[in-house]
Amino acid sequence: MNSVNIAKLKEIVGAENVRDNKADLYVYGSDASVHEAMPQAIVRPQNTEQVQELMRYANSEKIPVIPRGSGSGMCGQVVPVMGGIILDMKGMNRILEINTPDGYCRVQPGVVDNDLNAALKPHGVFYPPTPASGVVATIGGEIANNASGTRAVKYGAARDAVLAMKVVLANGDCVSLGSNTRVASSGYPLERLMVGSEGTLGVIVEATLRFVPIPKLRCLGIAKFNTLAEAGDAISEIMGSGCQPSMLELIDKIAIVAANKAEKLGLPEVEAILLFEADGMAKETIDPEIEKFQAICEKHNGFGLEFSYDEKERARIFAGRAKLFPSLSKYDERLASTSLADDMAVPFSKMAETAKKIHEVAQRHGLVMTAYGHCGAGCMHTKILMDTDKDFQWEAARQAVAEIYDYVRSVGGTTSAEHGIGLSKAAAFKAEKATTLELMRGIKKVFDPNNILNPGKLMDGPDDWVEATRLRYQVSKAG
Ligand SMILES: Cc1cc2nc3c(=O)[nH]c(=O)nc-3n(C[C@H](O)[C@H](O)[C@H](O)COP(=O)(O)OP(=O)(O)OC[C@H]3O[C@@H](n4cnc5c(N)ncnc54)[C@H](O)[C@@H]3O)c2cc1C
Repeated sequence: MNSVNIAKLKEIVGAENVRDNKADLYVYGSDASVHEAMPQAIVRPQNTEQVQELMRYANSEKIPVIPRGSGSGMCGQVVPVMGGIILDMKGMNRILEINTPDGYCRVQPGVVDNDLNAALKPHGVFYPPTPASGVVATIGGEIANNASGTRAVKYGAARDAVLAMKVVLANGDCVSLGSNTRVASSGYPLERLMVGSEGTLGVIVEATLRFVPIPKLRCLGIAKFNTLAEAGDAISEIMGSGCQPSMLELIDKIAIVAANKAEKLGLPEVEAILLFEADGMAKETIDPEIEKFQAICEKHNGFGLEFSYDEKERARIFAGRAKLFPSLSKYDERLASTSLADDMAVPFSKMAETAKKIHEVAQRHGLVMTAYGHCGAGCMHTKILMDTDKDFQWEAARQAVAEIYDYVRSVGGTTSAEHGIGLSKAAAFKAEKATTLELMRGIKKVFDPNNILNPGKLMDGPDDWVEATRLRYQVSKAG
């Protein structure tokens, strides 16, 4: 590991923007995943020129640089597995332009999603990818992870919102990618290449994002099902019917039971719940969508249907989904909720079948697994609930995860829907992308010949993350 010249870093960004004390290094050594590793320094650049100078220095010394937003990634994306400098981009957090006539805004990468949306609101528009972590997630992190949220089914993911960006390359050059126009047919769309690149190709220092009008009305509905198969048939028919939901969520029984235990919601403990939202400018356009949803659900034996335009009522109906993630550890006090296979995407017609497969695999391996997600976008979230003291459960989890990802690939799905690859999903990612790994390594070499940008991730990530997760649980129990 090459040593970092702290004095040089201070010269570039100012002493107040460099940290190398143990406490800070420890905090910046992890994210929202189970992974951790110590960086050598943390640097918070204030402008593009400082990023350029830092990259020139790091490139000449072959020191790893890990761009970082808020560190809310769930797969170890910002964990500095090869040491180096954490480039904390939250110092560059200005909204540079809100251009309503041309329908875009220009922002620095450290702007937090919710702050951007608060600034856009008075203009009657919003930036739609907003993940559930919008209160902390930065625009740079969202682009580099291709983040999305519950409304991706109608409004798309980060990739659909990005028009252009400025990126500092490993050698310190600053390049402009894309254009501020809605259409462009001008060669390779390199701005798209940055989306989901997880900090391995360049440092995003500015992004031009499209926004859309805030709908005046939203109507949320719920339907309950006694079998996952019936809920799945309803999903396929809704999505194939020309219906345009702004949200379509599937929640399985395990998640419902957990949410009830944690939050005393009193939800009916049925096999599956579907949540459906339609939005728009007038009731006349929303009501027909709701009626279609109702008719399709009833055709597939959905029951207990409720709908509301009222904000408070919508919050009540949505409560089970909103509280779901932190509730899962309450399903059974003896079982911890682990993120061993936390998200994947499948064609939406395969959502219910995938949920059933997950339950079947879990049962066969003596595990409990939940399945829920943004089914209108094909996004499935899972958690393995397991006794982390039992070695045989870890072995079972390893096999279950491998089987589930094999299945996901077999139905034309993909390793990650929105949480990215990082370290946790590198093995499944490499299996999925086997035919293009060398192409990706070639691209990486063009952008970053010395492999200093977030090394050890994506195609160079570890083959076994179950073991890393197990060790982490043991360490946290011991200490
Ligand atoms: C409770 C919780 C809920 C979540 N819900 C969702 C959800 O609904 N949908 C979803 O998609 N995700 C979700 N996430 C995951 C995560 O919050 C998002 O992926 C988010 O976009 C990460 O943003 P960040 O600023 O924290 O990025 P970080 O975690 O700091 O970084 C993520 C990746 O982006 C790279 N990066 C960051 N900034 C730059 C830059 N300027 N230039 C180049 N690369 C950069 C990093 O190197 C890293 O690879 C959730 C996380 C938590 C903890």
